[in-house]
Amino acid sequence: MRIIEPHIHMVSRTTDDYRAMAIAGIHTVTEPAFWAGFDRGSASGFRDYFHQLTVAEPARAARYGIRHYCWICLNPKEAEDLRLADDVLQIIPDYLDRPTVLGVGEIGLNKNSRNELSVLERQIAIAADHNQLILVHTPHLEDKRKGTRLIMDAIRNERRIDPGRVVIDHGEEHTVGEILDRGFWVGLTLYPTSKCSPERAVDLLEIHGMNRIWLNSAADWGVSDPLATLKAAEEMRRRGHPQSAIDKVFYDNPRTFLSQCPKFAA
Ligand SMILES: [Zn+2]
Repeated sequence: MRIIEPHIHMVSRTTDDYRAMAIAGIHTVTEPAFWAGFDRGSASGFRDYFHQLTVAEPARAARYGIRHYCWICLNPKEAEDLRLADDVLQIIPDYLDRPTVLGVGEIGLNKNSRNELSVLERQIAIAADHNQLILVHTPHLEDKRKGTRLIMDAIRNERRIDPGRVVIDHGEEHTVGEILDRGFWVGLTLYPTSKCSPERAVDLLEIHGMNRIWLNSAADWGVSDPLATLKAAEEMRRRGHPQSAIDKVFYDNPRTFLSQCPKFAA
């Protein structure tokens, strides 16, 4: 089994997780910049974090034969403080041309607030200025559909961005169809207690087809499972999907999307 894990927060996982993933056939991971479980107080905290993402984690992953790529941004959970946002947005371009940085992400909305939306629009403009791929986080709570629409509208308003170079992650039953209809890629996140179970994710694949879609664990510091993709692959197998379909969803699709960044190789 060959799997690309396109969304995982390895900074909050153990080295044992790297080893377990390598043994399971996950040899490539991409890590979006996100919240660390606490609010950072200054842009220097983000410099340390971006250093960890671009230098420390690729080295730790390499010890297990895993290629580690990342995405840089200010995440929506810390976008409420506009002074901090000003400082962090200024340093983001310093990191975009690092060899393992694939784009801007995971940007998006958390509570759909006015400040979050203004920081989102500025980061979409940074991505356009620097011709970057975008990875989007959609809200987890009851406002997911509204937040997903606000984000898609903000991207469309920035006319320089091709939706085929944007993946909208944490899609669910009430958002996947609209995301695909508008030309974006969609991500399904497999969480043990929220978001998608393997069964729900495979239902969505059967309903919406297997183009422009990827699955991820989004494993982080909370209750999550870095091997969740294997459980969804097993669910596909159990339902009689051929190995070629499993390979498409877990390897070919993420490779196709990520290869739009010339730095990516899998
Ligand atoms: Zn994430």
